[in-house]
Amino acid sequence: MTYKISQIAKIIKAQPGDFINYPISALLTDSRSLTFPEETLFFALVTERNDGHRYIEELYRKGVRNFVTEHPADNADKMIDANFLVVKNTLDALQALAAHHRQQFSIPVIGITGSNGKTTVKEWLYQLLQADYNMVRSPRSYNSQIGVPLSVWQINESTQLAVFEAGISQPDEMGRLESIIKPRIGIITNIGEAHQEGFSSMQQKCLEKLLLFKSCECIIYDGDNPLICDCMEKLCMGTREIAWSKKDRDRPLYISKITKGADSTTIDYTYLQYQQSFTIPFVEDASIENAIHCLAVMAYLNRPVAAIKERMAKLSPVAMRMEVKEGANNCLIINDSYNSDINSLTIALDFQARRAAAKGMRRTLILSDIYQTGLPPASLYRKVADVIVRKGIDRLIGIGPIISDNAYLFNVEKEFYSSTQDFIDLQPSGLFHNELILIKGARDFNFELISEALELKQHETILEVSLDAMIHNYNQFRKKLNPKTKIICMVKAFGYGAGSYEIAKTLQDQGADYLAVAVADEGAELRKAGITMPIIVMNPEMSSFRTLFSYHLEPEIYSFKLLEAIIKEGEKLGVTGYPVHIKIDSGMHRLGFTGDDMPKLLEILNGQTEILARSVFSHFAGSDEKCFDTFSKEQLSIFKHCATQLQSTSKHKILRHMLNTAGISRFTNEQMDMVRLGIGLYGVSPSNTDEGLKTVSTLKTTILQIKELKSGESVGYSRKEVLERPSRIAAIPIGYADGMDRHLGNRNGYVFVNGCKAPIVGNICMDVCMIDVTDIDCKEGDRVEIFGENLPVTEIADILGTIPYEILTSVSGRVKRVYFRE
Ligand SMILES: *Cc1c(COP(=O)(O)O)cnc(C)c1O
Repeated sequence: MTYKISQIAKIIKAQPGDFINYPISALLTDSRSLTFPEETLFFALVTERNDGHRYIEELYRKGVRNFVTEHPADNADKMIDANFLVVKNTLDALQALAAHHRQQFSIPVIGITGSNGKTTVKEWLYQLLQADYNMVRSPRSYNSQIGVPLSVWQINESTQLAVFEAGISQPDEMGRLESIIKPRIGIITNIGEAHQEGFSSMQQKCLEKLLLFKSCECIIYDGDNPLICDCMEKLCMGTREIAWSKKDRDRPLYISKITKGADSTTIDYTYLQYQQSFTIPFVEDASIENAIHCLAVMAYLNRPVAAIKERMAKLSPVAMRMEVKEGANNCLIINDSYNSDINSLTIALDFQARRAAAKGMRRTLILSDIYQTGLPPASLYRKVADVIVRKGIDRLIGIGPIISDNAYLFNVEKEFYSSTQDFIDLQPSGLFHNELILIKGARDFNFELISEALELKQHETILEVSLDAMIHNYNQFRKKLNPKTKIICMVKAFGYGAGSYEIAKTLQDQGADYLAVAVADEGAELRKAGITMPIIVMNPEMSSFRTLFSYHLEPEIYSFKLLEAIIKEGEKLGVTGYPVHIKIDSGMHRLGFTGDDMPKLLEILNGQTEILARSVFSHFAGSDEKCFDTFSKEQLSIFKHCATQLQSTSKHKILRHMLNTAGISRFTNEQMDMVRLGIGLYGVSPSNTDEGLKTVSTLKTTILQIKELKSGESVGYSRKEVLERPSRIAAIPIGYADGMDRHLGNRNGYVFVNGCKAPIVGNICMDVCMIDVTDIDCKEGDRVEIFGENLPVTEIADILGTIPYEILTSVSGRVKRVYFRE
């Protein structure tokens, strides 16, 4: 389905103009997601942190010809074959276009809101109803002011049912989403504390959410939830309601009994006088609630009882995160094996494309048959083949009878197998070298088996890194700072142990201003992997200047020796105006120029052209502790005095920065032009200030073996521990060579198993240690947390008499890092 540009101009009320009539099928708000340039309309959105107008030229070069902007683009005269639709506000225009598009269809649309469970309910409805309807749904959790319009845009002539999520974080947002989604059936999953900031009360938040249902025919909610019932009554919408209840027999949907088994739950219910039951393969309360919401929808849509029963039994968990794992032979694996339709394929390919900056890696796609009703296979796979080429896939492995039949459509290196088992039987891990492999398959194909087969498995211990948690932490500090203040993100020491590339890439995408690494080689590695944002090198070695210049890394300069050497090297290589960062020693007494050095420093800087002071900074000795506040303030004043001197003789603005994480928390007003955010990004507040941070890194392993030992027996080297009672002792594959400090042995420290603390017994070995699980219900293969959500690094640091920094950075390089993104 396409729109003419003149038509769109009218819908979004653009300033009139002579438009060239390109047909538009795709909307774009993130320049990195470009797939079909010639049919794309780009909306240059302006946010606090980014301005889409910056990407217009780049997109033009890539073939995009249609732009919605808030002002005429620079160089528009050089892009004569392009259309510029100028509007007051590009986000309003995007929303208006989506709302118009929605109005063209009279199909049933389901709108879901609530604090948790939206995505699960949406995906489950898709699993339950796709056999009956040609459906579209929000991709992943596209539920924002931008995500909703993009979701709604997917509706086309063949769509019979649509399911969209709506998420809000501030008052007044829901009205806008309502006018775009216009749901006929509304579901509110529940109301929790998330995103409370913008609202004065839970009730205000609930009322706002219910605005989504303004013109619904039917509203589904938990009739036992007093807050929601109260708000429904207040709004008095007079629409049909399915308020399901576990207590009130008179409700239209009465849940009479919930019977939990070991790994399934049977739910008995009465709907319109008829008693029925169904079973789901889940036991958690949240899953039961989500399934009841889905039941209400199916009942409302008059789905046969037999279909409800049969499909509920087959519900599969919603894997909301794409996993990136290390594979054998230097491969990286992106596992997205829970569904396969062309939309989610495009999103996954996009995710892969962004990672492919890991240069020199070939891009491989392992793809199953795509289940999508509505399109004949030849057209579907022609479309897939097209997307694959556009996203730069080098090699395709197709698995399934239908994709195999359509093999001739694909113009890349290709192989086909009729089933997953056929492929696994080849022992495929040897077939891939230095490749970035995306595994994308419909649930029935069990592609997790392929992911397992390709994974690197020398060791069962992993450091799981949540990139979402890191983004959350970044934004917590971002919010605290003035919008103009720049942020340097410290990724030294291998990103505080969490890994440099993935962290840097995520921060670059997030719009951070600078990265800082410890040595030049770390910076060079990031450049080679495709990191383009400015990078500061904190400890440049005398021998590293050439690396610095050739990878455009900006050194910290802390001594005259270094200063003179870099000027000399710059002279030799013909470098001019190279940005450097001047470090002032204001009291830490580690590195840096002192107040007394200033006259000489100014003289040297002003007498040369090779380098330019881009910033001047200093570091606190004790910004986390109140007892040093007088000293910290002295440091600030010394620093400011030096910075002023430096600025006074410079024609350029020199950025000033002093605050580290604890500084940001405790001396927010001293943020100056930039701050240097370190450990806070990784989820630790060194000053114990409540910044609402989330845990980023979790060190995990599994139980290898469990032994029943008698009282009096000893455990481990040097027979350090003699058991005082009959005990169950588990061995876990992590030792001091992985970074597990030996001082945690002999019951000084503990780990977390199935919700309980398990003390470490005996001496910690090189690769293994033993834990006491006598009082814990657990078995071999169970997960063990060394640190993370349940066992914060701060607690381990306290036991060891050290700081969380040391715990985080001690996880050795041989521990596999696994990254998660929702
Ligand atoms: C490591 C470092 C930081 C970051 O400190 P955190 O306490 O981790 O926020 C800031 N500035 C300098 C100079 C550093 O070396």
